[in-house]
Amino acid sequence: MVWRERTIPLAFCLVTNSASFAFMYQVLSFLVRTLLICTIGLGSATQAENDQQDAHIPANYSEAVDLFITLDNVSGWWDGFVDPAYRSDWERRFGWTAEDQAWADRYSEYRHRTYADPSQTMDIASSPHGLFSARTAYAGETDPLATFMVDQPNVETAIENLGEIANADDVNTLRGFYIHFEDHWRQIQSENGALSSFADKLEAQLSGEKLDDYLSKVSTFYGVKRDGNFRVFFTRFPLNTRSRAEIVAGRNLILHAPIDWKFEDGEWDTIVAHEIVHYVSSLQNDEQKRSLTDRFLARCPTANSRQRLSLLEEPLAVAVGQVGYSEQVLGKPLEPLSNWYGNPRIDITARSIAKSILNALKKGIPIAKSSLVEEAALLCDAIAKIENHR
Ligand SMILES: [Zn+2]
Repeated sequence: MVWRERTIPLAFCLVTNSASFAFMYQVLSFLVRTLLICTIGLGSATQAENDQQDAHIPANYSEAVDLFITLDNVSGWWDGFVDPAYRSDWERRFGWTAEDQAWADRYSEYRHRTYADPSQTMDIASSPHGLFSARTAYAGETDPLATFMVDQPNVETAIENLGEIANADDVNTLRGFYIHFEDHWRQIQSENGALSSFADKLEAQLSGEKLDDYLSKVSTFYGVKRDGNFRVFFTRFPLNTRSRAEIVAGRNLILHAPIDWKFEDGEWDTIVAHEIVHYVSSLQNDEQKRSLTDRFLARCPTANSRQRLSLLEEPLAVAVGQVGYSEQVLGKPLEPLSNWYGNPRIDITARSIAKSILNALKKGIPIAKSSLVEEAALLCDAIAKIENHR
């Protein structure tokens, strides 16, 4: 099977051990399918250039986005891209007929034909993106259906206006697909009231001077300009044991949330910070990505393309995202047992570089002028040596 970025088990793990309760959840993140035209102002940016933005990040529950995300996953159109939990829950509740599968197959054909991200397979030794996410992962043309859905005011308008992105045959396919399953997704959406409450609470957290300052520091760290504001959409995740997050349509963050969690259990603000870091990282110019990658590979020559995002991109998203956000915005360290990462390599690397990351953010030191790449690479090399001595 061809390895794809989105198949990486990018999981946050929250483990809270106390006398009263213990639980773990995973947030699969960074399923880089998205879009948005990144007319990105690349190149270096000064702290002053990055101080001109509104830090307010709106969060909402959108029926149109929830419809898209739910049925996209239920359809099972791409193993490793969709989460099988959606189909399992759907089958448990509603069953799955041959006619259902026929509609899923038609939808799958449309999705494979119209979703196109050339960055899904890359050689870290030669790709201009190296160990980092590619801007094409967030380009507008990459996922036209997601790009359309995040701007729809309601499901009726979305289904009515599919002709804006699809030809007549594809409109029939998509409209027929959504209408065929309508009774069931309407029933699911009727239960989603908690998600609006989650969105209101999260939006109240995602604004203010400290957040603005933090976002500027992240942009300075990666040497890019802030190029616009983000939006957050809550959608329903079918299990109450974990959640997941992803970026779609560029600066649109999807938080797949169980409806029976308490808001506080989600740690959604730190997850938003993590996803934003991925997006900002993708804005680095190719020269910088290649240079940082070459520095890394010089210290950890055994690194391979299958590990591409787990070596540096993800540990940075954890350390700059969750750790940096916690320190800079919440004013407290990220607790050792809190929301770090479920993948051991990523978790260990993130914890190892966290102190240096905080120092770089605090002092405005760009990644290119820091030793963070070498620090992560030395750990990569040490892990490789441990693995070789098993
Ligand atoms: Zn991530």
